[in-house]
Amino acid sequence: MRTSKLLTILALAGALSAFSSFAAAKTCSVEIAGNDQMQFDKTSIAIAADCTEVELTLKHTGKLPVTAMGHNWVLTKTADFQSVATAGASAGPANNYVPKDDARVIAFTKLVGGGESTSIKFSTSKLEKGGDYTFFCSFPGHWSLMKGKLTFGG
Ligand code: ZN
Repeated sequence: MRTSKLLTILALAGALSAFSSFAAAKTCSVEIAGNDQMQFDKTSIAIAADCTEVELTLKHTGKLPVTAMGHNWVLTKTADFQSVATAGASAGPANNYVPKDDARVIAFTKLVGGGESTSIKFSTSKLEKGGDYTFFCSFPGHWSLMKGKLTFGG
C-alpha cells in the first residue's frame, strides 16, 4: 500500500518534470523589413534569454524585383560576417548569396523581392549568451548598409 503510493508520487513527479521541460520551450517572433532604399528597419535585434527558438520573418516592403533589390537575412558571429558576405557574393543568386553548408552561417532566409516575405525558425542553442552576432543582407553590395547587431540574453 505504502509502496504503491510512493510509486504514484514518483510517476507524478516524473510527469511534472517532463511537462515543465516541455513548457520551457519558447518560440520568440522577430520581424524585420527591407526596402527599396537598401535599408533594414532595424539596426539591432535582442533575443530574450528564455527563447529556445526564434521565428524570424523578413518582409520586403519595396517594389523592386529580387534581381535588382533582393534582400535576405543572414546571421553570423560578428567576426565571420565580412568573410561570409564575400563568400556569399561568390555563391550567387541560385544559393541566395549564401555560401553552401558553411558552418559560419548560423541562420539565413532566402532572397525576397518587393512585396514578398519569408520566415525561418532556428534554435537558440546555436547562440551563446552575451555573444557578438551580426545580421546582414548578403545581396552583393548591400551588407555595408544592411546590417545590425543581434544579442541573446543579458
Ligand atoms: Zn539586400
